[in-house]
Amino acid sequence: MQKLNPVLFDGILRVGGRSQNAPIEFDLKHPIILPSNHITQLIVREYHKSSHHCGASHAWNLLRQMFWIINGAVVVKRIIRNCIFCKKINASMGKQFMADLPKDRVTPDQPPFTCVGVDNFGPIFVKQGRSSVKRWGLIITCAITRAVHLEIVHSMNVNSFIIGLRRFIVRRGKMSTIICDNGSNFTAGNKVLKKEI
Ligand SMILES: [Zn+2]
Repeated sequence: MQKLNPVLFDGILRVGGRSQNAPIEFDLKHPIILPSNHITQLIVREYHKSSHHCGASHAWNLLRQMFWIINGAVVVKRIIRNCIFCKKINASMGKQFMADLPKDRVTPDQPPFTCVGVDNFGPIFVKQGRSSVKRWGLIITCAITRAVHLEIVHSMNVNSFIIGLRRFIVRRGKMSTIICDNGSNFTAGNKVLKKEI
């Protein structure tokens, strides 16, 4: 407190300092000395809030343009650390705990496309003569090498799926496992394949 060379102006205790002759505002030359009590905490909170929940250094810098808080840096840091809004904004994201990879994904020494994942995407509009028609894509990925094979299918029904799959098998060879979602064309395709094989 002695180091601040305090002076009394209109009943308010201010920092004396050596900037009496500087061409700056009065509050900058002689900031008001504040103890670290409840009122000071309210002032710091107000500055922090009105400056859109800024960081400790910026809040401290703004406050110093009018106030000199005893142990100010510590007080400001503590108040901002306990700000509920900032806690919510700066909270670390939750992370998904991933399960073990299935056996098909990690078994080596298999040809590409032994275990595949299958899905449809689209529709995509393509030109046919002068008209524009809908077509869908069939994406087939290798579970081990992550290689991708694309087929065009005419519709989302079971026939188109079987035809697309046959084209794929002719090109890349037979697979042992197909992983897909519960799309109606895939579940119906599963029944057809089981019956025919
Ligand atoms: Zn805040």
